[in-house]
Formats: sequence, C-alpha cells, structure tokens
Amino acid sequence: MYSYESSKTLFERAQQSIPGGVNSPVRAFKSVGGVPLFIKKAKGAYLYDADDNPYIDYIASWGPMILGHAYEPVVDAICDRARYSTSFGAPTELEIEMAELIRSMAPNIDLIRMVSSGTEACMSALRLARGFTGRNKFIKFEGCYHGHADAFLVKAGSGVATFNIQTVPGVTAAIANDTLTCAYNDLDAVRQLVAENKGEVAAIIVEPVAGNMGCILPQPGFLEGLRNICDEENMVLIFDEVMTGFRLALGGAQEKLGVNADLVTYGKVIGAGMPVGAFGGRREIMECIAPLGNVYQAGTLSGNPIAMIAGYTLLKALKERPSLLKELDEKTLYLKAGLEKVLNEWGQAYTINHLGSMISVHFSERPVTDFASAAACDIERFKKCFHAMLKRGIYLPPSAYESWFLNNALTYEDLDKTIGMMAESLKEV
Ligand SMILES: *Cc1c(COP(=O)(O)O)cnc(C)c1O
Repeated sequence: MYSYESSKTLFERAQQSIPGGVNSPVRAFKSVGGVPLFIKKAKGAYLYDADDNPYIDYIASWGPMILGHAYEPVVDAICDRARYSTSFGAPTELEIEMAELIRSMAPNIDLIRMVSSGTEACMSALRLARGFTGRNKFIKFEGCYHGHADAFLVKAGSGVATFNIQTVPGVTAAIANDTLTCAYNDLDAVRQLVAENKGEVAAIIVEPVAGNMGCILPQPGFLEGLRNICDEENMVLIFDEVMTGFRLALGGAQEKLGVNADLVTYGKVIGAGMPVGAFGGRREIMECIAPLGNVYQAGTLSGNPIAMIAGYTLLKALKERPSLLKELDEKTLYLKAGLEKVLNEWGQAYTINHLGSMISVHFSERPVTDFASAAACDIERFKKCFHAMLKRGIYLPPSAYESWFLNNALTYEDLDKTIGMMAESLKEV
C-alpha cells in the first residue's frame, strides 16, 4: 500500500508560497481530487514520488519524454554544454543546426523561429498570421488548447475544461470577440463562420489530432476541408503540432495525415523536457517577422543553448532511428488491444480513441469526436479509474480531458502490468 505522507506535507507547504501549491493548474489534481504527487526523480518509464513510490508514467511530462526520462544522450549533452555557459543572448551555431534539423524532418518549414514554450509559439504564429493578412479575427475549435495567451482562452479544452471555467476573467471582451469558435470536425460550421465574417478572418488554428479533450481524431476530410477553405479565402492555416510534432511521425501530423499547413507550431518533444517551442512555415509569411518585417516577436532566452542541445539531441535520435517511433506506435497498439480486452470483460460502455502513440479511454457509449461528446463522458468514472490506477502504481494524466502519452522506455512487461492493473481497477469504478 502506497503512503503519500511526504507529498501531503510538501503540498501543504507549497500552498503557503505558490498559488494552489502548483505552477500549472492541472498538476493540482483538483479535478480528480486527492493529494498531487510531488516527484523526486524519474528514469525511463518510471516516476518516483517524494515517498519513493514508483509509478509507470503515462504523462511523460505531457509529451516531451518520448524516449523515456533521463535519456542518457540528452542528459550528457546538457551537462557538457552547461560548461560553456547557460546563455549568451547572441546567436550560436547550434541554433542553425537545430533549424536545419527540423527542416530536414518536417514538411513545409522554409523558416523557423525558436521560442521558450508552446504558448509563445502559438501566440506568435497568430500575431504573424494577423500581420501577414491584415485581418483580426481567427477561428479555433472548442476543446482545442493552444496555450494560455489571451486570444486562445475561449473554449480552450484541457486545464480550462478540467476546471469547468467558461469565461476567463482577465481576458477582455474585445480580445475574445476576435476569437471565433466552432465544434471540432464540423466543416459546415467553419464555412458558416467564414461566410459571416467575410474578409475578416486571418487564420484557422487547429490541433491536427486533438489531445486536450482526450485524444480526438480528425474525421476524414476535415483537415483537407480546412486547407481548401484557407486557400479559397486567403487565410493562414496554422497546425498546432505542440503535441503531435515529432510524435505522430518525424514530420508530425502534416506527414502522418498528408495535409500541408502554412504555419506550424511546436513544443513539448522539441525541447526534450527543456522549455522550448517553435513556429515556422512558408517563407513569405515568416519573412514578415522582425528583423525582416514589422511583426515584432522576440525572446531573451529564445534559442537558449542548453534547451537547444537537449532538443537537438532528442530529435536527432528520432531521426537517425525511425524504428523508435514505429516501436512506440506498436506498443501503443498493444496497450490498446489489452485495454479493450479488459474493458470488454468489464462490460460497461467505453470508447478508446487512438492514433500513433496518443491514446485516451473515455467512459462513453457514443463516439467521442468533439468537445461536446468528450464532456458527455462519465467523468466520475474517470476519477475513480484514475485513483484506482494510481494506487496500483500507474500514473495516468489527472484529467479526463488529456491524452495519455506513451514513451519508448515502456517495456511489454510494463504494458502487461498496466493492462492487469486496469482489469483490477475497473472493479472499483
Ligand atoms: C501543451 C500545449 C500547448 C502549450 O504549450 P506550453 O509549452 O504549455 O505553453 C499548446 N498547444 C498544444 C496543442 C499543447 O498540447
């Protein structure tokens, strides 16, 4: 039986100095209840909390630890590079190597700029699309999360949905009014928004595979339809590949699903766990950014050498051994099949959504294709399942609105254990 005494003490202490005891809301376990685990260390597929309890990790720091925690080539590269100073605020050769590496992996990236988070990447891409088109409005989808910049905090999925926050105080009506939203997978609704706002819409931003309302797949023709609408209306199509980039394929969802974006944002895997984001795309659009153009965007620590070497080392490993992503996809399929088996034996309604190494289990009778169907799932059941798994040493994302992230340090033994624990856990939900 796990004891959580140290996490409990740390959580109480944290709340004295940090709002809610955490530096990012979903970590607080508020939506699932209970004490958030304070983590001491991790190696491979395993996390160890402050009480030294081990867990098989299905969060992978929300994606970046795709080859497992403390992946040795990355750790070594960080340690080596740190001796040359941790920041210069001046250009380095490493930044060129990083940009060249990304361009060699992902389609449609003529130019790319590094930032320090997925939020910054999406915020900058939106500003750029607005500057390029001279239009103010943009379309996003209910339940898609693009970071916490003001313009995106409208029907924003993930943490915002986890906390059932509808309108976000601090985001002015003026800003929210330029954010047009409709349901994921609903092309007709997009066409209608575009018609109602003719000539005013700068961009459509979309998670090409949504991961912030559980994992939700684009229906056949959805992304292609968005591509066509953007072409017809001279709008910029932004793929938010912060979650899917370098995970679904070396070239992300663009490659996996065969649809081209004008601008792409990255985060998570791109930094191997260091704070990194990036946005890139078509030359004529990217050339509008300062210092080439007038759309201002900057960052004191952008392209930070420690962050760059970490991300570079991880991306290089993925590129040199394409079998790694293939292995990871196969493991995810294996987990899916095992979970289906125990869920079928359990006999209650469920849906598993899955693509590549993204997967989510929904306690739902109906297909989960958008935010409304994700929100209609049995959230109480999810909470029980989460805790039943946690006390058996399986660390799932602490929200029904998050995809699980597999990492390639997971062994088939770990997966069997997870499936077995799910069979036991289901008796409690
Ligand atoms: C995590 C995420 C972001 C935000 O990235 P941060 O690094 O947390 O700012 C943006 N878009 C998507 C799709 C994400 O999953």
